[in-house]
Amino acid sequence: MAVALITGANKGIGFETAKQLRELGHLVYVGARDVERGEKAAATLGARFVQLDVTDDASVSKALATIDAAEGRLDILVNNAGVLGYGAVDGPTALHAFDTNVVGVVRVTEAGLPLLRKSANPTVVNLSSSAGSFWAVTNPERPEFNLPVAFYSASKAAVTMLTVQYAKSEPGIKFNAIEPGTTATDLTAAFGVGRTPEESAKVVVRWATLDADGPTGTFQEESGELSW
Ligand code: NAP
Repeated sequence: MAVALITGANKGIGFETAKQLRELGHLVYVGARDVERGEKAAATLGARFVQLDVTDDASVSKALATIDAAEGRLDILVNNAGVLGYGAVDGPTALHAFDTNVVGVVRVTEAGLPLLRKSANPTVVNLSSSAGSFWAVTNPERPEFNLPVAFYSASKAAVTMLTVQYAKSEPGIKFNAIEPGTTATDLTAAFGVGRTPEESAKVVVRWATLDADGPTGTFQEESGELSW
């Protein structure tokens, strides 16, 4: 049984990932910034809840300290919390997108590293996006070519680069960046596109449950490796 933490697990792909990891028999911590929504999700799943706002250092430290005190290790970290950063093209909107999507990954990963290093098979999955692939956004054959989400794309490109950098600096821990597949969630509601979170969570779970000798430092979509 692995100990897993999923950020932003009160709904969407994060919730479904938590559900599927529970169904596999793992001990799951639902990280959510809102206590009521997080506790409700954890109760539904038979999971544990930690209050965790990825933009708040104190909240992240406290959440990881809670897991440390109870479990003494972390085997699976899914950096899932994210925002679209859609709307006004200005400094505050860009800061919010980068604070949540990029700095949030750094905060949670840094707080989680001491616990991950105590695991026999530590695995980190970063929810990136093909919208952050230079190859996809410059390829007219790909749907990302027409996506008008500059801050989201730029922040996810940074998440993918962070994944590679962490994979290099922490060779004992697997770090992979995932495009889960276009999914109908609150994040994409404005576009009215996507498949169910259940289907996309299967991709996340596959990468969260790698064997100890599994790949690291890669960028993946469901059908295989994604070009940078
Ligand atoms: P979603 O349904 O909107 O869920 C996003 C989750 O992130 C929610 O639980 C939300 O919590 C949480 N969150 C936002 N800001 C947070 C913060 N500061 N601290 C903690 N949690 C925070 O979106 P989703 O589609 O499931 O997205 C999950 C991940 O997959 C994101 O990283 C997204 O970029 C990535 N992704 C999605 C798609 C897609 O097609 N949907 C495609 C590629 C990648 P609240 O409920 O409190 O807002």
